[in-house]
Amino acid sequence: MIDLGPLGRHMPTFEPGSVWLVGAGPGDPGLLTARAIHALGTADVLVYDALVSPEILELVRKDAELEFAGKRGGKPSAKQRDITDRLIELARQGKRVLRLKGGDPFVFGRGGEEALALHAAGIPFQVVSGITSGLGGLAAAGIPATTRDTNQAIILMTGHYAMQGPEAIDWAAFARTGVPLVLYMAMNNLAAIIAELMRAGMTADTPVAFVNKATTPEQRVLVSTLGNAVADVAKAGIEAPAITVIGSIVPVRAALGFPDATV
Ligand code: SAH
Repeated sequence: MIDLGPLGRHMPTFEPGSVWLVGAGPGDPGLLTARAIHALGTADVLVYDALVSPEILELVRKDAELEFAGKRGGKPSAKQRDITDRLIELARQGKRVLRLKGGDPFVFGRGGEEALALHAAGIPFQVVSGITSGLGGLAAAGIPATTRDTNQAIILMTGHYAMQGPEAIDWAAFARTGVPLVLYMAMNNLAAIIAELMRAGMTADTPVAFVNKATTPEQRVLVSTLGNAVADVAKAGIEAPAITVIGSIVPVRAALGFPDATV
């Protein structure tokens, strides 16, 4: 177990029979919180997702059990209901259950749903925030989330949902704000999302950046425009996991002296 030194005094007790929903950050183990490291060193069982890096899993207590709850080998991902049932079952066995998620557990990670299910089942739980990939990825790519010259707000949103139906997003409403958009899970719907934003009046020269595998050794940044993004992403071979950044903050990267990332 990693000795947290004087920080150890600030760590709450991980009670047997409880679940901690912990954010693992965007990838780099150096971006873990001290409390996440404490949880890894203390938990009896670790239930983790696909986006948690292998280097982070190595920090778990040597005799802890590891359970994978994400998508693997093309098999469909475990159903959310199965995961929450499993967390409840493990807690009822008196284990200290660490539910480790990429980024922040409460940002597009279903941590909210898991917390609701634990609460309904009467299982004590704690939430340990992590650096969300939308913000950690921006920092790693040299794109400030805000500067006074560019924006007074930022929108973190998901691009996962279908373009029609009850979950459809009103893209025009978001486009009209003029506020930079940071999209999670947008790669599969990228062409449709860009078409909607341009139909709402965003111009083809609006700057766009993609940050793929942010903060890992394989991190790649691509800078483009709304008009060229789909072709540039294909040319560069950028795939999920990536965050998509649209708007006035993107060019600040070049102003900060980060290397050209156009294709
Ligand atoms: N709870 C997570 C988000 C889970 S949704 C968080 O706070 O970051 C999964 C999406 O997160 C991916 O599709 C991708 O858009 C983004 N993501 C997660 N890790 C990433 C990384 N290292 N680099 C770029 N995007 C990442």
